[in-house]
Parts: sequence; C-alpha cells; structure tokens
Amino acid sequence: MARVVFKNVEKEFVDGNKETFIAVKESNFTIEDKEFVVFVGPSGCGKTTSLRMIAGLEKQTRGDIMIGDRVVNKLHPKDRDIAMVFQDYALYPHMTIRENLSFGLKNLKQPKDVIAKKVKDASEVLGLDHLLDRKPKELSGGQRQRVAVGRAIVRDPQVFLFDEPLSNLDAKLRVQMRVELAELHKRLEATIVYVTHDQIEAMTLGQRIVVMNKGQIQQVASPTDLYQKPENMFVAGFIGSPPMNFIDVTYENGKVMMEGAQFVLPEHSVQALRAYEGKKLVLGIRPEHLFGEDITMGVPDTYSLTSTVQVVEQLGSENLVYFRVGERMITAKLHPDSDARVGQLKKFLLDMSKVHFFDVKTEKRTS
Ligand code: ATP
Repeated sequence: MARVVFKNVEKEFVDGNKETFIAVKESNFTIEDKEFVVFVGPSGCGKTTSLRMIAGLEKQTRGDIMIGDRVVNKLHPKDRDIAMVFQDYALYPHMTIRENLSFGLKNLKQPKDVIAKKVKDASEVLGLDHLLDRKPKELSGGQRQRVAVGRAIVRDPQVFLFDEPLSNLDAKLRVQMRVELAELHKRLEATIVYVTHDQIEAMTLGQRIVVMNKGQIQQVASPTDLYQKPENMFVAGFIGSPPMNFIDVTYENGKVMMEGAQFVLPEHSVQALRAYEGKKLVLGIRPEHLFGEDITMGVPDTYSLTSTVQVVEQLGSENLVYFRVGERMITAKLHPDSDARVGQLKKFLLDMSKVHFFDVKTEKRTS
C-alpha cells in the first residue's frame, strides 16, 4: 500500500535576518494508493516544499508524514522507497543513457542481469531502446525528459514524485508528454505526486488536485469538482481558462443588483442567500457560461446584462469578448460566428444554473 498522508504538517524557513517564514501551513491530506495527485498553485505557494518533504529532502517543522504504513519523519530519503523526477532532469552528462538508467541500481548493488532487464523494460515502455548508447546532449528535450522518468521507473518505487517535469519543454511537446505521462500512470499502477503551476496540466493529469495558495491548501478535489464547486474565490479564479469572472452585486429581496442590470434570482439561489439580505456579494460566472443574444445555445434570455464590447479576440474555435461591469473587466467565451464587434452595445445572457455567489469578506462560496 503506497498511501501518502500529511497530518498537520508545517514548514518554517528561517532567513538570513533570523525572520521566520511559514512556507507550508497546517497541511492535511491523504493520497491514496495508485492515485495520481497534482499539487498546483502560483509561484512560491509551497508546492515544491510539500513534495520535498515527502521525499525527505526537506524536514518538516511540525506534523507527521506517512508513506505506506510507515511514519517516515525520521527516515533518510533513500530509505523512503520513493523516486523523484526533477524539472532539470538531473542526468549525468558524461554517462550514456544506459549508464544513466543503471546508475541508481548499481549503487543499490543489484545483480547485473537484474539491472539489464529493468533497463530494457523501462526503455521499451518509454521508447528509448534505440537511444541507450547516446549521451544526454545527443537527445532532444522530450527524450531527456523520458530518461529522467526512466531512471525513476527502474527503481520500482512505492511512490513517484514529479517536480514540474514538463516546464523545460516547448508547448507542443508538453502536450504530448502529458498524454504519455497519463498513459504511463495507467501502465505502472503507481502512486504519483506531481507538482506544477500550470492549471491545465493539473486538470488533465490529476485524478485529484491539491490547490495551494500562500502555503495553505485551498481545496482538494477532482478536476470536475474544482471546476463546478470551487470552495472560494481563489480556486474559482485559478482553475479554468480564461478564469471565472467576478461581478460586484448587492442582494435584496430576492434580487441581485449590479451596474447595468438587476434580476430576480431563481428560488434555489434565494434560499442560499437568505443571510445576505441587503448585503454585498460577488457573483462568479465563467466566460463559457455567458452567451450573446445572437447565439444563445439554448440559454433563455431571462438573465442578461448589457455593456459595450471593449475587445474581441478571435481564436478560431471561439471568440473571447471583453466588456466592463463596474470596475471589473468581464470575459465572455462566445461562439466563433457571434456578431460581437468592438464598440457595440451588446446584451449578454447568463446561464443562471452555473452562477456562484461568494462572501465578500471570507471569499468563500455561498452558493
Ligand atoms: P515555484 O512554482 O516557484 O517553484 P513553489 O510553490 O514550488 O513555487 P516553494 O519552492 O515550495 O514554492 O517555496 C515556498 C516558499 O518558501 C517560497 O516563498 C520560497 O521562497 C520559500 N523557500 C523555499 N525554500 C526555502 C529555503 N531553503 N529557505 C528559505 N525560504 C525558502
């Protein structure tokens, strides 16, 4: 069983001025055996520190870490039965690919024939078998990345740890390697913990995603749940591209009022907003849940707002249309055949079944 558990784990760093900085706060989660879990969040939010604490490369200040059935707090990295793939691959430049793949196993004093078999199996899985006698500099970025993964595979660890392994690849190769990693996970049936700052990578790879911000876990959920039921404005704004729009509204007597529009809410929203009578709220709606009046995709025009189109970006598969409500710039992802033009006063329809409301102070979702 290769579960990974954090119980109230915290990490403090002390800088040169003896100031304490909390990089990871009260972190609690369980990654199940054979699960692919992705840590995502902006730069500096504590993702890599969390991963390095699992690996034992960083010692937690407080709390317990378990891998499998063992508390590993005091275990040396080499005794944790994990393998880590780093962003820069960390290959030995003077060694051939075969030697790079064999190196860790030789150190573990495994028999030669066992090493040869493991290297053969891993290189076949990763399509590296014809490159074994080359040196890393004779390989493409994607091939080097595969060697780094191969070095982890030959060790047959309980848990694989990946730290932004695709960030040095160009956009096209990143997409290809993403698919390969997802396939590899199915094939290996291994527990994988993966760190990235790229929310699309997180959504496509993770069975569950841990969203972090400023050292704190914001939400742990499946990609669908993160998208449909974000717990707070941070998650709502981080997951999804372009991000969710936020509109300042006031709630009164079953109605919401915003600049340029007001409408009576459906019954389920009224129930959920009872405690907010006369108060300000933030309405959240994703760009794909706004429609133009010309192409409504079946959304009734009961809920709409009107604003002047500021910018139109034609992406081929869709048009991104920008307009203002109050201070905020709003994005609508409209059909490519939509007639939106800059300067046009346009009516936008809201799919109310997809709208969320957030508390202004706590930024938590209320409905
Ligand atoms: P990125 O996506 O930029 O890699 P991250 O989410 O992985 O970011 P971490 O590397 O975990 O972030 O760093 C979290 C915070 O801890 C950052 O503010 C960082 O500056 C700080 N930090 C990390 N390592 C140390 C260290 N050894 N000493 C002091 N502060 C550190």
